[in-house]
Amino acid sequence: MNAPTASDKQPAAPVRRAGGRNLELPEHLKAYKGVWVFLEHDRGHVHSVSWELLGEARKLADTLGSDVAVAVLGGPDEPLGQFAAEAFGFGADKAYVMHDPVLLGYRNEPFTKGLTDLVNKYQPEILLLGATSMGRDLAGSVATTLATGLTADCTALNIDPASRALAATRPTFGGSLLCTIMTLAYRPQMATVRPRVMAMPQVQEGRTGEIVQEMLGLVETAIVTKLLDFIADANSNRINLPYADVIVSGGKGLKHPENFRLVFELARVLGGEVGATRPCVQAGWVEADRQVGQTGKTVRPKLYIAAGISGAIQHRVGMESSDVIVAINTDANAPIFDFAHYGIVGNALQVLPALTQAFADHLALRGKAAA
Ligand SMILES: Cc1cc2nc3c(=O)[nH]c(=O)nc-3n(C[C@H](O)[C@H](O)[C@H](O)COP(=O)(O)OP(=O)(O)OC[C@H]3O[C@@H](n4cnc5c(N)ncnc54)[C@H](O)[C@@H]3O)c2cc1C
Repeated sequence: MNAPTASDKQPAAPVRRAGGRNLELPEHLKAYKGVWVFLEHDRGHVHSVSWELLGEARKLADTLGSDVAVAVLGGPDEPLGQFAAEAFGFGADKAYVMHDPVLLGYRNEPFTKGLTDLVNKYQPEILLLGATSMGRDLAGSVATTLATGLTADCTALNIDPASRALAATRPTFGGSLLCTIMTLAYRPQMATVRPRVMAMPQVQEGRTGEIVQEMLGLVETAIVTKLLDFIADANSNRINLPYADVIVSGGKGLKHPENFRLVFELARVLGGEVGATRPCVQAGWVEADRQVGQTGKTVRPKLYIAAGISGAIQHRVGMESSDVIVAINTDANAPIFDFAHYGIVGNALQVLPALTQAFADHLALRGKAAA
């Protein structure tokens, strides 16, 4: 199978314009149907963002009256069938499975060919990928190979009632505005979403679907990149902010890098992770992996404690989906109090140690009572 060139995919005829927008799809793209999710996996585990995307895919497909499918690519012995079965539980109706020796371990070239071949053959209307390192790398090359539109780092996905196109919303202008982007005259409509932006759907036990096996047809000698070895980054899994249940974050209000110790102590007592605002990361107070926000991580913990953080929009977009937000700030008019569930107007350098002590005492008492 060959991917179409950009010129193949240009609209055949001028499209009707209404209200300044193109509302009509070129005839040859009208056959594209269904919502797909690229299932990302690594060392035997599917990335949670793929399940989060399946929840969104299901809602989009239900609005369109179409099906949900996953595309899962991997090496000959990788448990892709098992991943497909898990995907059915999360709402997929179909799984396109591609096993091939050259798909063992991610490389852009064979994965781009595999995914574009599947898209060209089965013609999905919408294709979603996680905005992970792999997803970002793959989505860009698939979109350019297919000559279609890609909206990266979306925060909401909907169907536009007028055009029935994917309305993909993402922050713009440094996070101060949200824009909604539609790919009206090309297919598939592609979008990436960062981990934890969408909620994890419920698993429906016993739900099944259809597995379609496909071949890649690419030999190792035709691929320019070679995978020689895999060396895990010893630090990469050390800080797992997006999936932490409790996060204590610090901002510039802590005044001095040493004061971050107070944030680490509270996080340790609560069994949580430490987050930070961008200025703290830029000043070298904490590692870049701890940054929460538009240009950092998106988090969704059960508890988010923000100490000395003003609540700028670029920080807010990365943490406002937290179940409970507690803000500590000396300024009663700080923007963070507009969206925090609980606010403490006070000096974080005093409040943090007091909270650490109070939680440590409470947890010790609970431990004794349980013994
Ligand atoms: C393109 C772009 C992307 C960005 N991306 C991000 C991002 O991903 N994440 C991010 O965080 N920011 C990001 N920013 C920066 C963002 O705009 C804000 O500048 C930043 O979030 C502010 O950080 P802060 O709250 O730590 O500092 P400040 O805004 O300086 O706020 C400090 C707060 O601490 C309070 N305070 C002072 N002393 C104390 C005390 N003793 N106890 C308690 N409170 C005290 C103050 O009242 C104030 O509200 C981005 C900006 C741009 C332009």
